[in-house]
Amino acid sequence: MTVAINAWPALVLNADFRPLSYFPLSLWSWHDTIKAVVTNRVNVVSVYDQEIRSPSFSLHLPSVISLKNYIMAQRRPAFTRFNVFLRDRFACQYCGAALPAHELTFDHLIPRSRGGRTTWQNVVAACAPCNLRKGGRLAHAAGMTPKRAPVQPTAHQLQESGRQFPPNFLHESWRDFLYWDAELDPL
Ligand SMILES: [Zn+2]
Repeated sequence: MTVAINAWPALVLNADFRPLSYFPLSLWSWHDTIKAVVTNRVNVVSVYDQEIRSPSFSLHLPSVISLKNYIMAQRRPAFTRFNVFLRDRFACQYCGAALPAHELTFDHLIPRSRGGRTTWQNVVAACAPCNLRKGGRLAHAAGMTPKRAPVQPTAHQLQESGRQFPPNFLHESWRDFLYWDAELDPL
């Protein structure tokens, strides 16, 4: 039987049963997952109906696994487009409009044309109209101040922010692990 390498991904939980990471969501291919199971590095928490068979064994493909040894969270999050949006909570930092990622742009507080660098401290999420309005001016010269001063977020801050923006696709066996550790809304 052949199984596509991208099909049947497993959600990877840390040894404390929280997802190893939210962004990107920690998923392993079934192939890597089986290898980790066979080498005894993970516990199988939940499985798909899908099985793989060989002459010597058959196994349900894991849908959720947990690491046997706790891994410390990465201290410095990657400086990526998505993480900048996540830090800024998918909202224009000038007018506050919350937008889907494909409708957001990046604005350099100090424009690149004036030597501004592409760093956590100089880049914010902005809607297209605000970005256009600011143009090549310095943020303060344009009378446009970001709602929150841009700083490099900690992995923890991004993790917290990520819980508010769950991925679009979730296998049902993952949901509990993505939401159980979310804060409960007061009734
Ligand atoms: Zn705006």
